[in-house]
Amino acid sequence: MTIDIIEPDSAQAAAESVERAFSWFSEIERRCSRFDLDSEVMRLSAQIGSPVVVSELLFQAITFALSVAELSGGAFDPTLGGSLEARGFNRNYQTGETVDSGLRTAAVATYADVVLDPVGSTITLLRPLILDLGAVVKGMAIDLAALELRSFENYSINAGGDIYVAGHGPDSDRWNIGLRNPRQPDQIFETLRVSNVSVCTSGDYERRSGNGFAGHHIVNPKTRRSPPAIASLTVVAPTAMVADALGTAAFVLGPRRGLRFLERQGVEGLIVSPTLVSHETKGFSRYRQ
Ligand code: AMP
Ligand code: MG
Repeated sequence: MTIDIIEPDSAQAAAESVERAFSWFSEIERRCSRFDLDSEVMRLSAQIGSPVVVSELLFQAITFALSVAELSGGAFDPTLGGSLEARGFNRNYQTGETVDSGLRTAAVATYADVVLDPVGSTITLLRPLILDLGAVVKGMAIDLAALELRSFENYSINAGGDIYVAGHGPDSDRWNIGLRNPRQPDQIFETLRVSNVSVCTSGDYERRSGNGFAGHHIVNPKTRRSPPAIASLTVVAPTAMVADALGTAAFVLGPRRGLRFLERQGVEGLIVSPTLVSHETKGFSRYRQ
């Protein structure tokens, strides 16, 4: 994770804000990580059938994930934790440890088995399932970090390629964001010029499955396979939570339905196929000027 603030008036104020911004990442990790059996979300996943009072942060993350699930007709589904764990996505990237939740999950569980009660701030899981908020919480952490930096004009937050930028970069009137070539990730495929938006990219090259499963870290809930038709997908949106989650949803929907979905949600997106053919939403080209 990198935070850049361009020429802040006070170095001390900048350092304090950056520290507060970073602390959101550990707070979210503590509450929402599937790779820590003590996190709030994993303790919730271990309690099936009874209402569990959760923090505001976790409640908001799950509420948002469920609304994207509904908007995408279930292409996006935050109850895929069991499938992801079975595919070998169970390594804590900080400690390197493999996490085996030991939790049983029902193959038929979907987002419809997650019941929210906003009055009591409770969540009830109707079937055995493991919540995975990986498509929501990185974006959420970036947005909360950005709130801590709002007194600065020009800054960028980069969390492993998911980005929020405000104002402009060092020598431009906006920020230049390089998108990777999904088949040669050390090369830039193209450069966007953006300001006051988030740019989030999902790529099939990021994390490959293990345990004998083919595919990568995005799973189609209906087929339980990785969508084959997209190599990378970039969304530009006002917030990182929206860009991150809508991107994952569109990835599952595939090139045609995915782009229509992004257009309906009022965000811009670029899809690169495995043979490096690009498709994009109608307004995307404005980010090239
Ligand atoms: P990203 O490529 O950063 O958007 O990450 C996608 C993440 O979302 C994965 O690492 C999983 O944690 C999670 N995920 C995978 N498939 C789905 C899906 N169909 N719906 C919701 N979340 C998913
Ligand atoms: Mg995403």
